[in-house]
Amino acid sequence: MPADAGQSPGATVELSVIVPVFNEEEAVPLFLEAVPPILRDLGLGHEIIFIDDGSSDRTCAVVEAASRENPNVRLIQLSRNFGKEAAMTAGLEWAAGGAVIPMDVDLQDPPELIREFVRLWREGYDVVYGQRVSRESDTGTKRMSAGLFYRIFNKMSDTKIHPNVGDYRLMSRAAVDATLTLRERNRFMKGIFAWVGFPSIAVPYERPVRAAGTTKFNYWRLWNFALDGITSFSTIPLRIWTYVGLTVAVAAIIYMVTIILRTWMFGSDVPGYASLMVVLLLLGAIQLISLGVIGEYLSRLYVESKQRPIYYVQRSLGFPAHTPQETAPPPAGRARA
Ligand code: UDP
Ligand code: MG
Repeated sequence: MPADAGQSPGATVELSVIVPVFNEEEAVPLFLEAVPPILRDLGLGHEIIFIDDGSSDRTCAVVEAASRENPNVRLIQLSRNFGKEAAMTAGLEWAAGGAVIPMDVDLQDPPELIREFVRLWREGYDVVYGQRVSRESDTGTKRMSAGLFYRIFNKMSDTKIHPNVGDYRLMSRAAVDATLTLRERNRFMKGIFAWVGFPSIAVPYERPVRAAGTTKFNYWRLWNFALDGITSFSTIPLRIWTYVGLTVAVAAIIYMVTIILRTWMFGSDVPGYASLMVVLLLLGAIQLISLGVIGEYLSRLYVESKQRPIYYVQRSLGFPAHTPQETAPPPAGRARA
């Protein structure tokens, strides 16, 4: 048996680490150097599930090779890129552990924290989440936009999310199962995790820069991510237009009365092109914005109504035969090779 080997497949899994990967051939080996020793030291039966999110590089091959060396390493290969949130959902569904830790592969989630997570879990917390003490490893723009997003989100949503808390956390089996009862297709995990609740505690940490490879989130993707988050957890953008409309109507009535009075007292004056134009353009713009917002919600409603699976599994590797998932009726999205 190779030196790296853990328990035999089929042994009870107490801790599952789930790692979504998308074109991460450089980062996977570094991750596999850093994380398994910590898990072995903890003395818990564990599994590391990589969810390949449609990589076009050698990520799958690298994980496959690792899985031959170490029976605790498993692979779920999705049929294409479904996005990190969907990949994480796949991991949560396939994880067998009594506790589950979603982790980024780029070592921006410091593996040493796992010890502290497990300690607090044993103390009875269902959710132990990492909270960044600073955002020094981010660019100024990213820091500012993230701060703005958290402020706006928490103003609008009844479900509050902690600023600077990502997906890196430990969840007990109870918390994982609760998370999986939210079957929405639009999966804003930060919000879903917060919605679930359970006794929780934060572990502060410094977030380092990426160990290898490049970020998979550009600004356009982050913007859409923010829209997904807000529309999933708040209907305020949809309802606000009633009040905008009312305010504009009141202003219009006041303006109307003024015009009538002025015409009555001073006679009609033809000039007024500028004010007409301004009112026309302003109202047109307001109407288009409100229609756009309705469109955002409508398009999400449309996607939800199709009830498509959240992800599709093309192939899986390294999972012990006859795991509970194998015998239980598969939830939507799960398909085992
Ligand atoms: N990721 C993924 N699918 C995607 C984009 C990202 O599975 O479509 C994974 C990626 O491989 C990494 C994690 O999500 O393990 C976090 O991505 P990244 O480090 O690029 O995000 P950042 O830290 O820059 O926010
Ligand atoms: Mg990263």
